[in-house]
Parts: sequence; C-alpha cells; structure tokens
Amino acid sequence: MTFSDALGPSCALFLDFDGTLVEIASHPQAVVIPTGLSATLARWRNVLGGAVAVVSGRPIQQIDGFLAPLVLSVAGVHGAERRRADGSLAWHPVHPMQPVVDAARALVRAYPSLEMESKRGAVAVHYRQAPQLQFLCLSTMQAAVERSEGLTLLCGKMVVEAKPSCTSKSLAIDAFMQEAPFAGRTAVFVGDDATDESGFASVQRRGGIGVKVGEGPTVAQTRVANPMAMREAMERALERYTERRA
Ligand SMILES: [Mg+2]
Repeated sequence: MTFSDALGPSCALFLDFDGTLVEIASHPQAVVIPTGLSATLARWRNVLGGAVAVVSGRPIQQIDGFLAPLVLSVAGVHGAERRRADGSLAWHPVHPMQPVVDAARALVRAYPSLEMESKRGAVAVHYRQAPQLQFLCLSTMQAAVERSEGLTLLCGKMVVEAKPSCTSKSLAIDAFMQEAPFAGRTAVFVGDDATDESGFASVQRRGGIGVKVGEGPTVAQTRVANPMAMREAMERALERYTERRA
C-alpha cells in the first residue's frame, strides 16, 4: 500500500514536522515552509473531520508560528505538551533540568558550532554544523541525564535531547486516539527519524499504518522518498477524494 492509498476519509493523520512536512534545515530556525502546506493541511483537516495532528519535538508555539494562520492539534516537545482538537491544553509536569542545562551550556561554550535549544521541560543540543562532535554531545548529555530524575536521552538526526521519560510521540498519539475526533479512526503516522519508530510500531499494533519518510531501516509498512514526495502524495490523495465526491 502506498502512502497516498492509505489516506482516506476514515483515517486520523499524525504528522511529524521536520524532515516529514518540511525539509531539514541547517538550523532549527531556518526551515522553509513550502507554499501551500498550510492550505493542504487545512483541507485534510476538513476531510477528516478535524482528525489531523502535528506530533513534533518542537514546542507547540513554534509549530503554530510556522503554520499560521492555521491552528492544528499539536503534540509538542515529544508529547510533553499537547493541544487537543477542542483547543484545550495538556501539560506534563516539568522535572528539574539544571544538570542537563548546565551540560548543554558548557558544550556550546566550548564548541560554538553546536547549538543549544531550551524548551519547557527539555533541552536539545544540535550538532549539524559539527557532526564530528556527535560522541562528545551524546556522552556529555547522557551523563547529565543520569543525574536528572525523570529525564531520558533521545538521539535524533544530528541532535541529542534530554526530555521527560514519561512522554513520547507514541503516547501522545495514543492520547489523541482516545479523544474526539480521532477515536475510532485508523491512525496513520508519518515520520522520518529513528525517534519516530516507536510511533510506527504503536499505530501498527492497533491496525494503523506507519509511513517512513526517506531512507534507512524502519518498521513502518510504507515509505515515501522525501518531504516533497510526502506533500505531493497528500495533495494527490486530496484531488482523488474531491473528484470521487464530485
Ligand atoms: Mg522529524
């Protein structure tokens, strides 16, 4: 089954952001939002009765800024914050962050090509400009996480992130799936990173479909080549749906 075939009026659509809806940029702030992306997402939200959510490591506020004026359901910071379809917010409690904040600050002070990103309840260190520092970033942040109760280390594409252990994208998807308008639909989760694999496994266990964007090993049932192909597939499926209804 192709991704485009998987998209139908009875699905609930969960979308990672970076590397899935938009191409990964040199800096997290430098992503380019393709023309028409918000419009396509808004049309899908109408077709699916509101059952579209962005599931990202970014804070909700950043996703809103990128997609404005569109306001979608969002799980931000890997599910540590979540805005439901009715607009209400669910926040996970924040754990003490000082050891991971100190460790990340020391890293960027010593290596200015690294980039630190502070969020509510999580701290990320991006090493896209200095891939040779991967092991140092990983070991330093791992040691800091071990001194921090309630936090765990997540390793994504050119990024390590200390985040709450009790949250994940797959738990966020589960939470949406228990609420209207997601409940009772077939979950389709699209993501690109190693950190999305547990989400693919989780939706597929419940009869849903995981969609991997890009290359690399995956448990996802189906795959699209890159974010552009992903956006085109979303538009194609919309056209097909509209033609069928006409
Ligand atoms: Mg991603």
